Amino acid sequence: MTCLQYAVSGRIALLTMAQPPVNSLGYDLRVALVAALDRANADPAVSALVLTGSERAFSGGADIREFDTPKFMQEPHLRTVVDLFEQSAKPVIAAIGGVCMGGGLELALSTHFRVASPQATIALPEVKLGLLPGAGGTQRLPRLLGLEAALSFILGGNPLPASKFKGTPLFNEIIEGDLIAGALAFAERVVADKLPIKRVCDLKVSYPSHEAFLQFARNMVKGVAGPYPAPLKIVDAIAATLKPSFAEGDAIEQRLFTELMLTPESRALRHLFQAERAASKIPDVPDGTPTRTIAKVGVIGAGTMGGGIAMNFLNAGLPVTLIETKQEALDRGIATITKNYQGSLQKGKLTEADLAKRLALLTGSLQFSDLSDCDLVIEAVFEDIAVKEKVFTALDLVAKPGAILASNTSTLDVNRIAGFTQRPADVVGLHFFSPANVMKLLEVVRGQATAKDVLATVMGLAKKIKKIAVVAGVCDGFIGNRMLMPYWAAAEDLIARGATPWQVDQAMEAFGMVMGPFRVSDLAGNDIGWAIRKSRAALNPQRPVKPNVADALCELGRFGQKTGKGWYRYEAGNRAPIPDPEVMALLESHRQKLGITAQTFSDEEIVTRCVYALINEGAKLLGEGIAARASDIDMVYLTGYGFPAYRGGPMHYANEIGLFKVARTLTELGKDGDPSWAPAPLIVECLSANRALT
Ligand code: NAD
Repeated sequence: MTCLQYAVSGRIALLTMAQPPVNSLGYDLRVALVAALDRANADPAVSALVLTGSERAFSGGADIREFDTPKFMQEPHLRTVVDLFEQSAKPVIAAIGGVCMGGGLELALSTHFRVASPQATIALPEVKLGLLPGAGGTQRLPRLLGLEAALSFILGGNPLPASKFKGTPLFNEIIEGDLIAGALAFAERVVADKLPIKRVCDLKVSYPSHEAFLQFARNMVKGVAGPYPAPLKIVDAIAATLKPSFAEGDAIEQRLFTELMLTPESRALRHLFQAERAASKIPDVPDGTPTRTIAKVGVIGAGTMGGGIAMNFLNAGLPVTLIETKQEALDRGIATITKNYQGSLQKGKLTEADLAKRLALLTGSLQFSDLSDCDLVIEAVFEDIAVKEKVFTALDLVAKPGAILASNTSTLDVNRIAGFTQRPADVVGLHFFSPANVMKLLEVVRGQATAKDVLATVMGLAKKIKKIAVVAGVCDGFIGNRMLMPYWAAAEDLIARGATPWQVDQAMEAFGMVMGPFRVSDLAGNDIGWAIRKSRAALNPQRPVKPNVADALCELGRFGQKTGKGWYRYEAGNRAPIPDPEVMALLESHRQKLGITAQTFSDEEIVTRCVYALINEGAKLLGEGIAARASDIDMVYLTGYGFPAYRGGPMHYANEIGLFKVARTLTELGKDGDPSWAPAPLIVECLSANRALT
């Protein structure tokens, strides 16, 4: 029984869950829990039990890795364990320190008394996985906290400190100081005073005019749940606490839980939960790979990206040296950072002291030599290979040995950039997204020569600055922007052939994208894509150039929100996009020039073309090894490109559709003669091997 320690102290059996890191309730621990419960109940020398975990966690809940395996339901499954503890003939006291979440809290609710340290945090986060607490949580919590408080706790899914529940029937005592000593003393009192066993299932829920309350709750939840089915089912499960018997309500909870497990939304959310954890692992860079110490950071370029990048490190308490070419540009960059912090101060997200501390960590300079004591330098200068060459050559001369040299380039070849230095092993791409202080995603671009300890270091650093890092190989656009190219091409092709930008945007937003492609482009600036197209054309003069409606738009100076006109028009001071007849005229003249007769597209056709373009390119880059796993691509699209979480990312979505249908549809789309629709080799390969994209 290595995952659970059993000890007897006086008349009390102490059961200590010992399954690092967070005592997740996998099969082995469940078996051990039942064995320990039986042992204590069978031992005449034992009068009560204390169940506890580690300082870090009582229990983090079910083992999510078991979710889609037979082990999840292998007896004793969690519902059985919970029932057995509740029915224990001897009193059980839960002693909760650290995290107590999901199934962990449900287990605690099945005990007869609960004590906690004030630092303990409790949560029923199942809603975040598209589920509801399925081991009695929806039935027991309302019996202790009441309908309303329990509903808001379960719908929120967020951790709350145990101390917040002091004085409620949820905790008999909040123990300051030594939790175990306090819990054992509490247990001794239970025995000495012959306190009756209090089973939560025996309590009744009462709420004045509960029908009206539940109706109100349903209406509220319907308004905010969007495409997610779990919140409404949570209301239904909580309503079932009013059934005459606990068993009836419990059966309803179980049925609703099973229904939710089978929804595509929950599958998608569970996939993303795993994907986030997987993304931090690099197959050939094992845990424990040595890392370099990063105590000071340099950022070159104080423009849009450099300022935001610097803020990430200042927020994490690391000193930053910010380099510019001219005092004016440096002042502008520092002023923007200060303004951003002042905005947070006004919103109450930052105190005056925090602001002062962050700004004190920032040093501006016009001298590259001031980077000589930095452990990491991130370059965020103009996207021009000649400028990058100048910067990396100069940086190589001043950076200390072992410093990590990173580029924030979006499109340029990181191997080529590494070649501008005498130390390509220290060079890596760190592709932040705009606004860099807000966006969660960080693409870590692994060059041919990038050292493993450099990768391990930046992956650890990403966690410190609260980013989700995904490793990408070197190619044009890495993962995210490379997939954007065919996505864009599909969207543009649609408007060239008869759809309107607003129809495409609406269709994609109805599919769940945070913003349709044309609204995104107007927000980011249409000139950015224009500049990239021009530089690509210059690099590949032999490639034929097709007349492009986006170029025609830019030639009119319609760069998007910043110029008041783009794919839409905008009124001064308002970001709301307004369809513009001038864009219609532009599209018509473009079609005339190319001899295209306008046709109509259904919203479904629009979504198919745009999403299948993403899927196919994702499969291509996965096949080429640019991404290590399909779920990494999904993380990129979720955290950087507004793909709907309830669809799980483009690769998961492809697996849900089924690769047979994906391949057939792609082949069908390619019948017009565009070879880019040909199914990616990996799709064909997976299909014939009868496996999913992984
Ligand atoms: P920007 O034009 O806003 O800022 C670039 C800054 O670099 C300017 O302030 C310029 O004065 C400074 N600079 C130029 N040469 C320099 C030098 N030799 N030494 C010091 N400073 C110098 O550009 P940006 O949008 O911040 O983009 C910077 C980099 O980040 C580019 O490689 C770009 O591709 C990449 N990127 C941009 C975005 C985005 O959305 N803007 C997103 C991801 C990555």
